[in-house]
Amino acid sequence: MIEIKERCGVIALSAPHKSIQVSRYAFDGLMALQHRGQESAGIYVFNGKSIEGYKGLGLVSEVFSTNILSGLIGNVAIGHVRYSTTAKSDIENAQPYHFSSTYANFALAFNGTISNFLSLRKELEEKGHVFTSNSDTEVIAHLIASNLLEVEDYMEALSLAMTQLKGAYSMVLLTETGEIYAVRDPLGFKPLCLGVIPKNEIYVVASETAAIDTLSGEFLNDVAPGEIVRICEGEVTTKKAVSLNRHARCMFEFVYFSRPDSVFDGISIYKAREKLGRILYRLHPAEADLVVPVPDSGRCAATGYSEESGIPIAEGLMKNRYVWRTFIMPTQSYRENQVRLKFNPVKSVVEGRDIVLVDDSIVRATTIKRIVHMLKKAGAKKVHVRISCPPIIAACYMGIDFPTRRELIAANCTVKEICNFIEADSLGYMTIDGLLEGIGLPENELCLACLNCKYPIEEIDFELLEKTLGGERR
Ligand code: SF4
Repeated sequence: MIEIKERCGVIALSAPHKSIQVSRYAFDGLMALQHRGQESAGIYVFNGKSIEGYKGLGLVSEVFSTNILSGLIGNVAIGHVRYSTTAKSDIENAQPYHFSSTYANFALAFNGTISNFLSLRKELEEKGHVFTSNSDTEVIAHLIASNLLEVEDYMEALSLAMTQLKGAYSMVLLTETGEIYAVRDPLGFKPLCLGVIPKNEIYVVASETAAIDTLSGEFLNDVAPGEIVRICEGEVTTKKAVSLNRHARCMFEFVYFSRPDSVFDGISIYKAREKLGRILYRLHPAEADLVVPVPDSGRCAATGYSEESGIPIAEGLMKNRYVWRTFIMPTQSYRENQVRLKFNPVKSVVEGRDIVLVDDSIVRATTIKRIVHMLKKAGAKKVHVRISCPPIIAACYMGIDFPTRRELIAANCTVKEICNFIEADSLGYMTIDGLLEGIGLPENELCLACLNCKYPIEEIDFELLEKTLGGERR
């Protein structure tokens, strides 16, 4: 599925000795998080005296050369890959964001969306803060800086910020003295985890466990919802700043965003997706010769569907892995062409066969419609579509770049109408109960707002936010 964009991945590294350079580790970690954002990348380091950094537009490998990396000297670093939802795609909105004034100097990298950033910004402007971009990251930075004037240290300033910020945020912060702080919002929308690279005793905080694995690190624990982790010179301290009796992990992390080799709050993404595929078969069995995944997003669920049904799985659709940045496609016709660039059916596999096509979600339905069309043109006799996520009927205000509600096909059409539109022989969606069973968490531990319109954040002017975010959505 290629119609939804995640918003950002973060990494932080802290080596206990000044002789250990961490920018290369940050680069490798960001490469492992590239799927979370392809718009810009940045790394900021603490060199013992000051914070220095580099960021640019493009993929991690496009932004950083060996020369640039070797110029980023320091034993503490934070890094970021970005896809935007609240600000335009330009260099001034790339992260990490460096806040520097007479009373505070730090760099910040952030994954999520602050739902009340408009009112916070207004309050800060009334206090004299001047903003240079329209991103919520800048609002967070100014809020932390403002808090630093009132409290003793970063731990206190961040604790206070957690009572002021509404929304989804997993962030890492690098101070002017080389401390790292990692913060996860009280509802725990986004993943954030802590690990250590045993070779050099480098502590790592990352959006996903796969980044820790990539660095040959050992996973230690998830940063808990509402928790702040401080890392400095080989010491880790934690503070539970806010405790809530419910959480709101984004169900899409389990269904689509996170890498299958990651583990989010103790749940294997691969196993959750595979189980969703098994449940999908029980809910919507189909008679067919082959199960075909939409690569790569539908593969784990397709495996589960195949195992549960006994129908063999086959790669009937190939993906061009070098078509990355779909967000630059500005119009519907461009996007439709882009599907053809990205996918190609394997005629020898699908010709004359009845197929179960498994994908993770349907947003506008233009992508799946093109794929069904391609498979039939390649000779597939029947294409039964199975979707491992329930119908998406509402916008996301917590960091995911969904189109507006009027573009969400399931918000406007019945399943039968969608099936007709995509010209499939049948269409079956996951149910919300099936989703909960597949992930293995109760409803009060997940955010399901785009499926059931029950937003876990209160007191937000969604209409105002829709206007602000809507202008940036395609
Ligand atoms: S509304 Fe949907 S996409 Fe947004 S955070 Fe909630 S579950 Fe995730």
